[in-house]
Formats: sequence, C-alpha cells, structure tokens
Amino acid sequence: MQTKFLLSEDQIPTHWYNVIPDLPGPMAPVIHPGTKKPVTPDDLLPLFPMGLIEQEVSRERFIRIPDEVREIYKIWRPSPLFRAHRLEKAIGTRCRIYYKYEGVSPAGSHKPNTAVPQAYYNKIFGTKRIATETGAGQWGSSMALASQMFGLECTVYMVKVSFLQKPYRKSMMQLWGAEVIASPSDRTNAGRGILAKDPESQGSLGIAISEAVEDAATHPDTRYALGSVLNHVCMHQSVIGLEAKEQLKLAGDYPDVVVGCHGGGSNFAGVAFPFVADKAAGKKVRLVAAEPASCPTLTKGVYTFDFGDTAQMAPIAKMYTLGHDFMPPGIHAGGLRYHGASPLVSQLVSAGVIEAKAVGQLACFDAAVTFARSEGIIPAPESSHAIRVAIDEAERAQQEGKERVILFNLSGHGHVDMAAYDAYFAGKLEDFDYPADKVREALARLPKVESVG
Ligand SMILES: *Cc1c(COP(=O)(O)O)cnc(C)c1O
Repeated sequence: MQTKFLLSEDQIPTHWYNVIPDLPGPMAPVIHPGTKKPVTPDDLLPLFPMGLIEQEVSRERFIRIPDEVREIYKIWRPSPLFRAHRLEKAIGTRCRIYYKYEGVSPAGSHKPNTAVPQAYYNKIFGTKRIATETGAGQWGSSMALASQMFGLECTVYMVKVSFLQKPYRKSMMQLWGAEVIASPSDRTNAGRGILAKDPESQGSLGIAISEAVEDAATHPDTRYALGSVLNHVCMHQSVIGLEAKEQLKLAGDYPDVVVGCHGGGSNFAGVAFPFVADKAAGKKVRLVAAEPASCPTLTKGVYTFDFGDTAQMAPIAKMYTLGHDFMPPGIHAGGLRYHGASPLVSQLVSAGVIEAKAVGQLACFDAAVTFARSEGIIPAPESSHAIRVAIDEAERAQQEGKERVILFNLSGHGHVDMAAYDAYFAGKLEDFDYPADKVREALARLPKVESVG
C-alpha cells in the first residue's frame, strides 16, 4: 500500500502554467481606481517590478521558472502527494482520496511558491524593500522568508485580529528579518482614516492591503507584494497541480474531482488550473473551490467590478465580490477572510468551469480533527475547508454507489494555529450565519465603471 508519491528534484516543473490562453472567453480589463480607465503597465510600475507586470498580462501558456527560483524551490519541492488510506478507512469510503501537502515549505504553507519568485523579480529590478499585508500571517511569513533569501527588507501590515490571535507568526516574520505592524495602523493615511472612524477596528485584509499599497506607492525604493488574487500569483502556484498530475500518474490514477480551499484563490488555482486545459479538451474532472460560509465570495457574491481593497487605492477588477468594505466575522481561518476573489477563478466560476461550495467553521474543524486523528498531519484552519468538501464528496459518492478519485490540496499545517483548536475543543467556536445585511450594504457601494466589461 503505497502512501507517498514522490518526485525527484529534477522533476520540479521547469515552467509555470498560465491559464489565460485556456480561458473560455476574453478577460475583462483591470481598471485604474482614480481615472476609471483600463490600467496600463506604467500605472502598475510604482507597485510591481516589470518582470511581474509582464507575467500579469502574459498570453503565453508556459513561462520558464528562473534557475535561481528553482534552486530555492528545492528546499521543499517537489512536495509530497499522499494517498489518504487512513482517512479513507476512518470515514468508511471506497473512494480513493489523495492530497498534495504544501505544509512542507519552511513557512508551512503554499505561499512561498509565489513569495520566492516575487522576491526574485524585485531583486533583479532593483527594489530595496517590500511592503505587504498579511491576514493570518502565512503570507507575511512567506514574504519575510523570501525577502531574507534575496537580501530585501520587508515591512508587513498584519490584520489586527490575527496579530492578537496568532503571535507566533509575528515571531516567525521577525526571525526572518521583517518589521511587523498591526493594521489598521497610524503609519498610513488609510490606517489613520479607519482608526478615526473605529478605534477598536479589528482590521481586515482589505484595510491591510490599502496600507501596504500606500506605503509602496509613497516610497520609490519600495514595491508592493500580494500573496493571492493576481494572475501572476495563481500562475506561480501552478507548480502544485503540475506536480500532482505527475504524482497521480505514478499512482495510476486521474481525479474525478479536485478540491482546494479558497480565500483569494491562489492555492485553489495552483491545484486546479493545470486541470482546466484537460477539461477544455474533454476530460471529465470537476474543480471545486471550498470557501467559508461566513465570507462566501464565490457562492453569494456578485460577479462585477470592485476595488481590491477597502480604501479604494488598489485597482478595480471584475471578480466575485461581497463589496470592498464588507467586514467578515472573525473566523479562525483568517486567510479566507477576503471580500473578493481572483479574477481568473471568478471568470471560470462564472463560465461554469469551476464550482464553489461554502462550508461552516464547526464542520471544518470537525473534518480537521478526523483528518489529524487518521493521517496525523495537523491542518491549517484554512485547509480544513478543503478537507470538509473532500469528505463530503466521498460521502456523496458513497450514497450514489460510486468509487471516485478525489484530489485535494492541503495548503498548510496548523502548528501555529493551535489556539484555534483549543477554542474548538473548549466549545468556544461558533458558526456565523451568512451576514446578508452587511453584504447588501457593502454591495451598494460598488464603484461605477462605465463602457467596459
Ligand atoms: C493564505 C492561505 C490560504 C488562502 O489563500 P489562497 O490565496 O486562497 O490560497 C489557504 N490556506 C493556507 C494554509 C494559507 O496560508
């Protein structure tokens, strides 16, 4: 009974996969928040290095991974693919469940897959400092790690609720040389504006993004880095699915359904996008994004133009959104609390290529405990959403008398999230109802974008 399917270092993908040529239709333009006209590469230069801007708009299906990046990928890649024999037994399924484990990176999640190339393209561009935001701390720690590897300074605006709930991610960032600031902060106009209205603000990813964008835009030697949502980020994460496909060949299997948890869309895109081309070529494979019921962007949001951030400084993109100033409840899967979604994932959901499912916090922790007690690995609260949906898929197959092959991405481990497990076992976690009124209010403040889309 083989449990792990491993590739050698020379089987780390040589190219990233870009889904754009395989989209079912043209992409909507990205709109400048000030002029309300389509953004040009020059508009983006204060925020990103040219290498990443080129990737953001590239129509090439495969883009070569620089040797310097592959060398660092070797620290943890190729990541293992596991057959979940013990989970299968625990839930009594005849489905074959596989999971790709991204918790083997130094930061404990998939995020270094993009942090490392982002640091690399900034380094060769001449950037001295990276300004970025972090929710639960996974992105900030990944960017701190990658900045350290390329000799860049790093400033991280950390959503306050997570800054307080997850102090050890702050320690990791500091260990890797970054400066960490609780957001909203008094460092930026955006932060000061929020604090003036609500001194007790717990922050949100949208607010922290505004602060980091403002920091980068107002300092010439500084660039901004985003851990999710953008096209180039989804592309960097494609190493997950590209490797998983090779590993499933070793196992002699091909998935009926591929599942990933969805915050901004990057780890889901990473595992699922390499299957989009197969699907377009007629393969029967379902791609399912798992999101929190309390922040149900893909299942309850509107597919329209909205700001990427609360303070309306980031570009306007066509995506599923709950409204740029929607403040989700303080669930423990902090990395899934974003009002919007990747425009690429959004377009594929809208076209029916990708499905989405919303799951409640308690059901996710229940699945995480079943997983940890059978497979051993302690999942990140974010990743537990993928486990929940994978188990639900197995149970549904069982009821239909089918034996399906299920692949899910275990995006990270939960070693720094044990307070969330403590709260769960103490009965202190609650399920938040879908905050329909707050969403309706936030959606009333969508930007007006004319003559495009
Ligand atoms: C950040 C994070 C997520 C959510 O981000 P995506 O861009 O949607 O992937 C999910 N899982 C883990 C472990 C994370 O760190």
